[in-house]
Amino acid sequence: VGHQVGDQLLRALAARLVAIAGAGAPCARVGADQFVVAAELHDTELLHRLLMAADDWRAGVTLGELRLSVDIRAGISEWRAPRSGVEDLLRQADVALLQAKEQGTVAVVYQPAHDAEHRRRVTLVAELRRALEGEGLSLHYQPLVKLTDRAPVGFEALIRWSHPTLGQIAPMEFIPLAERASVLPDLSRWVLNAAVAQLGSWQRAGLDCAVSVNLSAADFADGGLPARVLALLRDYQVPATRLLLEVTESAIMREPQLAAQIMQQLRTAGVRFAIDDFGTGQSSLAQLHALPVDELKIDRAFVMNLDRSASNLAIMRTTIELGHSLGLKVVAEGIETPEVWATLLRLGCDVAQGYFISRPMPAAAVAPWLHAQRAQLARNLDVAEEAGRVTSLSARGGPHV
Ligand code: C2E
Ligand code: MG
Ligand code: MG
Repeated sequence: VGHQVGDQLLRALAARLVAIAGAGAPCARVGADQFVVAAELHDTELLHRLLMAADDWRAGVTLGELRLSVDIRAGISEWRAPRSGVEDLLRQADVALLQAKEQGTVAVVYQPAHDAEHRRRVTLVAELRRALEGEGLSLHYQPLVKLTDRAPVGFEALIRWSHPTLGQIAPMEFIPLAERASVLPDLSRWVLNAAVAQLGSWQRAGLDCAVSVNLSAADFADGGLPARVLALLRDYQVPATRLLLEVTESAIMREPQLAAQIMQQLRTAGVRFAIDDFGTGQSSLAQLHALPVDELKIDRAFVMNLDRSASNLAIMRTTIELGHSLGLKVVAEGIETPEVWATLLRLGCDVAQGYFISRPMPAAAVAPWLHAQRAQLARNLDVAEEAGRVTSLSARGGPHV
């Protein structure tokens, strides 16, 4: 729905909510589309009326000439321990609401978590929200180099979270949680801001490199992404061509048309796109071809044991060929050994990323690494030139070098 209709709807819902709750149960709006009602626990009558109203709204709300169905769910938390504060109560309601969404049920009552794993997840989400406003998050950067000569072409920004008591938490653990708890858009905002700011300061220091940023499905859910990204690039005076956005097939395929629109807007401005973890999704290259994409990043599952798996080798070969025939650059991630490197070079893969070149490093290590890499590159060129002279001198008789 449009903004105006959305506002009207929120006002209508708020008015109904206040009317139902009555004087004894204060209401508040606590998020873009979240309301809180504070009520006596034994007031089951009120709870009943609220749930009935939710049923009504789901069936349809009339706004002027429009009839809208509103997806309403409730997360319920109870004030028990005298020590738990309002913050806890709200967080618990949030957890219950999340569970209701996941289960597709109308309402869930918060259960104090018994198993450690659940407790950890709940803690992580709450702590992540805090980290986004404070400290603990940083970006590490992993080089991407050309396979032919190892010339650096850019860096992938990878988020790192160091918690004062929980220690290092891997993105593989907290990114999916952030996604389910709707924290991901805020996280992406943080990452984009940090990455573009970094690009700006590298540029001022005379380092021209590109940075890739990972996006998730949630980033494509609202149309505001292009404007936000372009504003960032403008604020930090970074050319759009320095920014590459990595998206997974599944993220795009959730709403292919909206995703394509968003990508097109950014791409027109010069931002490039890569399909991340390529090969793990369900989409066909034909579907992907319709999207404004520049690069295919083949998932590391196919890369890791490339030199020992005939099927991976076949998959890799065809993917590289198909990618090239669609005019896409092909990137391989997760290269750990010289054998895999050599195989990819032979197959004509364009760009490489992996521990074999470098692990992700803190921002401060990037400039020294680039200098060392470029010096090495220059030495290699000298050696190659030297070898070229030797070869051409002995070209008629001697063996080829
Ligand atoms: P990804 O985007 O596919 O990133 C590549 C992952 O492979 C990184 O893991 C990187 O450290 C790892 N990697 C690179 N080379 C090698 C190698 O040679 N061997 C092995 N074993 N691993 C290698 P990381 O940093 O743990 O990130 C994992 C995933 O978390 C990323 O996969 C990405 O999906 C997600 N992620 C990381 N940072 C962000 C972020 O800022 N935003 C979003 N939305 N997702 C992120
Ligand atoms: Mg990536
Ligand atoms: Mg990947």
